Amino acid sequence: MITELIAVGTEILLGNIVNTNSAYLAEKCAELGLTVYYQTVVGDNEERMKQTIKAAFDRSDVVILTGGLGPTKDDLTKEMTAEVMGLPLVEDIHSRERIEKYMKEYEKNNPQRRITANNYKQALVPEGAIVLDNHNGTAPGLIVEKNGKTAVLLPGPPNELKPMFEEEVFPYFRKKQPEIIYSQMVKICGIGESQVAEDIQDLIEKQENPTIAPYAKTGEVHLRVTAKAENEKECKKLIKPVVRELKSRFGKNIFATDEKKTLEEAVVDMLKAQGLTLALAESCTGGAIAARIVNVPGVSEVFGHGFVTYSNRAKRKLLGVKKSTLKLEGAVSAKCAKEMAKGGCAAAKADICLSVTGLAGPDGGTKETPVGTVFMGCCYNDKTIVREYHFTGNRTKIRQQTCAHGLALLRDCIMEGIQKKD
Ligand code: ATP
Repeated sequence: MITELIAVGTEILLGNIVNTNSAYLAEKCAELGLTVYYQTVVGDNEERMKQTIKAAFDRSDVVILTGGLGPTKDDLTKEMTAEVMGLPLVEDIHSRERIEKYMKEYEKNNPQRRITANNYKQALVPEGAIVLDNHNGTAPGLIVEKNGKTAVLLPGPPNELKPMFEEEVFPYFRKKQPEIIYSQMVKICGIGESQVAEDIQDLIEKQENPTIAPYAKTGEVHLRVTAKAENEKECKKLIKPVVRELKSRFGKNIFATDEKKTLEEAVVDMLKAQGLTLALAESCTGGAIAARIVNVPGVSEVFGHGFVTYSNRAKRKLLGVKKSTLKLEGAVSAKCAKEMAKGGCAAAKADICLSVTGLAGPDGGTKETPVGTVFMGCCYNDKTIVREYHFTGNRTKIRQQTCAHGLALLRDCIMEGIQKKD
């Protein structure tokens, strides 16, 4: 079913609040197999709201609106939807009773405040609507059906909208759609988004069921493979050959097929499986790679030392980087990264050490070493490899990319070591 999301509220248009409701609903619609083609934001204005709802019904089967269900005059979502759908508003006795009860409770707990009579406006519903109780506020949600079209009206506050969607709207659409949606994630690191997109272009072009949706994260690309079928078993059957194909195309760059698994978890799992201890020698990331590694519970088994060596002096003192290297090659150099990794292994008595030295900017770049230049080294089994990277973006983005690519490099080194052992 073609679906459209409309977020109502002038404060969203002005950027005063972020439209997290549409992001949440878009994900839920994907889970339900509702195909979202359009998302719109419209202010609290009668005419523009009517136009927006009308346009949505002209091109979609399901229109989900959020916000503007409250008691005040500028809360117009219900009125405008009813008008466009040609339905009168009638009082829903059950909602009136609930609002009355809520108001009495509220006044008891807040004697200094009064709830005004216009709250009863919230008990008016388009004729024939399914009323969704609001357990966290007064405005009920609504499902309105007419001539094969469905409008879903939900309150704006996320703490009211989310439970209502999960408890009532989700099961409503599940029942309507006999097919279920099931998806599997394939997570890739060490290859850029455009490369991944190019490598699966042919699969995307001919895809029907399952579909492959790429999502770019910093330093990672996630591919969600989604199938529609009668049950989970049938979905898995459809997904299996596609995931097999992706594995054959991206091989060792796939670090997880479990949606919840993070890159740092994949690295820590490998270290544990190989019985390896890790040290980190960080300059431009200032401990950010260590911070990602310690996201993983139980990591102390494999990780003991993280050196933050921001100054040349620290690089020399803690990691034994040579004075001549710093003088002749500079701190942002392949040689420095190499010595940092080797020195980190020795100082921590670790089996493997990743080192990072680079220029996150915004100042300090030169023609030879522009901002975004990063050298990373990995010392393992008495061998040290060094890679040079050129990242783009601001300081934060460069550091985030360095962290993700550093973890990918660690994975590569461990895997290379495993292959050598075999
Ligand atoms: P209320 O009964 O509280 O007035 P409502 O359904 O009329 O609810 P709005 O008045 O439009 O909703 O919005 C109330 C609050 O809900 C906003 O101030 C904002 O904090 C939150 N909100 C509304 N729309 C969104 C949205 N699209 N994304 C995130 N939060 C939202």
